[in-house]
Order: sequence, then structure tokens, then C-alpha cells
Amino acid sequence: MAQPLYEGKAKQVFATDKSDEYIIHYKDDATAGNGAKHDQFAGKGVLNNTISCIIFEMLEAAGIKTHMIEKVNERDIRVKKVTILPLEVIVRNITAGSFCKRLGVEEGIVLDEPIFEMSYKNDDYGDPLINDDHAVALKLATRDEINFLREETLKINALLKEFFLKFNLKLVDFKIEFGKTDDGIIVLADEISPDTCRLWDVETNQKYDKDVFRQDIGDLIETYKAVLERMQTK
Ligand code: UDP
Repeated sequence: MAQPLYEGKAKQVFATDKSDEYIIHYKDDATAGNGAKHDQFAGKGVLNNTISCIIFEMLEAAGIKTHMIEKVNERDIRVKKVTILPLEVIVRNITAGSFCKRLGVEEGIVLDEPIFEMSYKNDDYGDPLINDDHAVALKLATRDEINFLREETLKINALLKEFFLKFNLKLVDFKIEFGKTDDGIIVLADEISPDTCRLWDVETNQKYDKDVFRQDIGDLIETYKAVLERMQTK
């Protein structure tokens, strides 16, 4: 097998015979706490690729520009070559996770308006939370690009909230990443899956996302399978 150009915690990126396309390969690894907790779950890569492709197709159909070209097989997706902006863009609709820990807020409070957050993608510094001025000062993105990211992200939030609600799931929060093509166009990249979203059952608030692994409260594969089944049966 060819050497990946890049290997992350859950995915590998490969060059293709086209200079402007990559193949992303989903692995079975799960990590939490910046790699402090690490395990492998047979079939996780297939589930995340399948779920993420369905979501990216839905977003494309709704007018969001993404890196997606086509799903190649159950673990691989062909994408436009992009340079990932070193920003983790997060939206919160309901309080959870680091927001609660950082601010001493209870989990599960429905926010009046979505919160847009950015973290600087830098493992050595624990992906610190930053604001627009920090991002501009560090030259991670221009002011105009950040304004675009905010607008596009809030549109994506509205689309994802409506999408998951059809499957009786509340979108609590999520993380997305954007990339820039060689032509300078910013598109949604990376993945959207139960690894990167918090999803709670509308009636019971049962968790259907990576928190089952982070908090050791359930079986990751069964949980991700249940998300995909909901997405396929409605
Ligand atoms: N998230 C992610 N990757 C990260 C950090 C966060 O996909 O490196 C997602 C996470 O799954 C959740 C949202 O972003 O849906 C908000 O995460 P939070 O800041 O609460 O961090 P956590 O509690 O996961 O450390």
C-alpha cells in the first residue's frame, strides 16, 4: 500500500494520479483527550465514512461547497485537494463538554442562540480556544475569511439540526474544518460523524456519539450503528 501523505488520529490522506485530488481513508482508531485515551473498534472507519458521506451529500445538495468528489468504497472517499485551515470551528446549541468544564456550566442547557467558537489546531498547546482577533493576528485566516467561516458554519448548523431532528436526534454541538483549494476557494472538509458531533435522543437524551467512548458509558460501534440505522430508515 502507498505511503500516506498525512496520517491523523482517525484517517489517512493519500495522493492520487490527479494533482488536485486526494483519497481519504478512514481507520478504526478512536482517540479522546488529545490522544490520552486511544482504542481501536473494528468497523468504526466504515461507519464514519458512510455517515459522513451521507451528510456531505446532503450539505452539497443544500448549496454548501465541500471537498467531496465521490465515495470510492466503504472506507475511502475521493476529495478535492485542499490545505486545511489550522482552525477547529465549533458550534454549540446545547451546553456540553469543554464549554461546561471551562465555564462551570451545567450540561444540557439549551442556548438561546448558537455559539460559534474557534480553536487553534495545535496539539502541543492543546488546541486552545481563540477569538477572531487571535486568528487574524496569527495569520490563520483573514478577517473576511473568518466572516465567511462564521456565516457558512451557521448555515451548516441550521441544516444539520434539521437533518438530525428527522432521526429524533438533537444536535448538541459539533466541530468542522475548512480547507482552501489551490484556487483559494474555502470549502467544508474533514468529516462530520458521531466522532465530531454530539447527538442526543430527543426524548431520552441518550448519547449517540463519541461521549460513549470518552466517558465509558456505552459500546461505540453499537452506538454509531444506531445513528446510521436511524439515518437509513427514515
Ligand atoms: N470535537 C472534535 N474534535 C476535537 C474537539 C472537539 O470533533 O478535537 C467536537 C466534539 O465531538 C464535540 C464538539 O466538537 O461535538 C465540541 O467539543 P468540546 O469543545 O466540548 O470538547 P471535548 O469535550 O470533546 O473535549
